Amino acid sequence: MSTAVLIRRPTAAADLATAEGSHWTHRSACRTAEADRDFYGTSAAAQARARATCLSCPVRLECLTERSAVDVEENWWGMVGGLDAEQRRVLEVAELIGERPDLKRAQELLTPRWRYRLYNLRAAGHAPQRIADILTAEGIAVDAITVRVAVWWTGGPGRAISRRASRDRRPLWQRLRDDYADVICLLRARGARHVDVAAYLGVRVTTLTRATQELEAAA
Ligand code: SF4
Repeated sequence: MSTAVLIRRPTAAADLATAEGSHWTHRSACRTAEADRDFYGTSAAAQARARATCLSCPVRLECLTERSAVDVEENWWGMVGGLDAEQRRVLEVAELIGERPDLKRAQELLTPRWRYRLYNLRAAGHAPQRIADILTAEGIAVDAITVRVAVWWTGGPGRAISRRASRDRRPLWQRLRDDYADVICLLRARGARHVDVAAYLGVRVTTLTRATQELEAAA
């Protein structure tokens, strides 16, 4: 049995896993026929139900950790470890620049001690990097990509760039050009496609295109 098969379908994978039943997939919360409709459904409601199932799953970290073994082309649209396809894609892109979430720490952010604080910081419109800086100063060392995972798990957008609560009146493409030139150039230099960079930053491809055109013109 290949690892790709194992991860591609956690519920079915459990039936293929070790005969002793010791594999983590045997404890997955999505091992029900009812879950199939949600995990492979494309509606927002189905995805929200699937994410809620993942949030209560005792093996969420194991599931998400092994996501790197997924055959991305085959598993692109299903929910895995509480993250949808787009969010897992962002993690793949983030790895190109050495960003890897601390999943245990992300889980800690959802405990009663930190969850409300995280909610408030999100409600204030702070970007993940700013939230990470604040939380680190308050006693829980996290980085931006870990904050993004915690926010995604709770159903939030977790974009790299905050769209709200900013007094910055510049158009988004200008903010990209002025504030994110380094990360855009680094991701491109590491082989990320244009569409991947846009996904990582949480912006439209057309917005990124405008910013990169401006960067190239200024070079
Ligand atoms: S985290 Fe979600 S996808 Fe993974 S095993 Fe648990 S319920 Fe299934």
